[in-house]
Amino acid sequence: MPFVFSPAACSALPVAGSASLFPVRRVFCVGRNYADHAREMGALEQAEGREPPFFFMKPGDAVVSGAGEISVTYPPLTRNLHHEVELVVALGAGGANVTGEAARKLIYGYAVGLDLTRRDIQGKAKEKGHPWDMGKGFDQSAVVSVIQPVALTGYPESGRIWLKVNGELRQDGDLSVMLWKVADIIANLSTSVCLAAGDLIYTGTPAGVGPLLPGDVLEGGIEGVGTLHARIVNR
Ligand code: MN
Repeated sequence: MPFVFSPAACSALPVAGSASLFPVRRVFCVGRNYADHAREMGALEQAEGREPPFFFMKPGDAVVSGAGEISVTYPPLTRNLHHEVELVVALGAGGANVTGEAARKLIYGYAVGLDLTRRDIQGKAKEKGHPWDMGKGFDQSAVVSVIQPVALTGYPESGRIWLKVNGELRQDGDLSVMLWKVADIIANLSTSVCLAAGDLIYTGTPAGVGPLLPGDVLEGGIEGVGTLHARIVNR
């Protein structure tokens, strides 16, 4: 049967060394996966040690990407838009109850991402026990660089992850201190949902998150994965 109107095209990401695009399905994000960031958010549970990972989502069409400088419109309803630079895992295959050993087989590639956050809205939601969606899942909230296939990157488990805003270093960490490693994240998430090709997983941010303003120029990078360039523009 025909549709009553044409379905929207999915978000599609450029892939290094390829003329084809990566079709985005869902966007999963891990919260508090670097102890220094959990600490700066006042959320580290010292006594219990490492807590199980927790996840939130952004809509697939919140993804914004490009091969050059990515233009991001400053979103409405916030006066405190924050940057979170993150390693993004792009899945080329899916499955449920995937073991840590098998998790690598699902990975198509990696990218540098920004989990943009309306921190004021998220903060109010936390206070009231409301969902985070409007703090995290707004339009253009999932910025992501060109995808680097695993053939080019291998499976990075260490390496510098950093973000500069207007040339000033704001975030500077290392993948090796992630509380939950990529394979563990995939295995854990796959117990909750059946993962699928096209899913992106944002794996958390190191310390140094902070506010952005229209006109800001962002340069981020992950050793062995690549760089991301973005600019915040006025609505
Ligand atoms: Mn994040």
